[in-house]
Amino acid sequence: MGLEEKLPSGFLLTTVEQVAGWARKSSVWPATFGLACCAIEMMAAGDPRHDFSRWGMERASATPRQADLMIVAGRVSQKMAPVLRQIYDQMTEPKWVIAMGVCASSGGMFNNYAVVQGVDHIVPVDIYLPGCPPRPEMLLDAILKLHDKIQNTKLGPQRKKQIVELEEAQRRQLPLLGQGTV
Ligand code: SF4
Repeated sequence: MGLEEKLPSGFLLTTVEQVAGWARKSSVWPATFGLACCAIEMMAAGDPRHDFSRWGMERASATPRQADLMIVAGRVSQKMAPVLRQIYDQMTEPKWVIAMGVCASSGGMFNNYAVVQGVDHIVPVDIYLPGCPPRPEMLLDAILKLHDKIQNTKLGPQRKKQIVELEEAQRRQLPLLGQGTV
């Protein structure tokens, strides 16, 4: 990230951002983190029928140092939480996380002391994927949405401004309760 701090603002930076975004989104390497039944659907996303290698993701493995996307598939037990965090810390920057399924997103139906009530208590999550389990097509859709996010990520000073704007937008969001959606 050192280079990004030295980049100038303006037209040149916009072009560099576009190229960097395209390169990053086209070469996302997942560190798979299969913990329960959702992992079967995650594995199916890499089979010849769904084939996520179409987006440069064929190198799915359990080696965090060469990975920049963590797909948490399944419920996270309290015992597994520090391991998950350690693997996240070993991944290269910039990195992203998809919480696959209701268990990873919120604990799901396992509302008990043994299961972490959402992996966002342990690592920052970029995409929450609903479903029990989500189909491989849903995972592919989440990956494409993540690609949009990566493509539009700002660099250098613009990144700080973008984070402030995102936080401000989140603060302005009304709670779902009371809108008739829950
Ligand atoms: S969301 Fe459903 S399929 Fe996925 S880990 Fe939880 S119980 Fe299993």
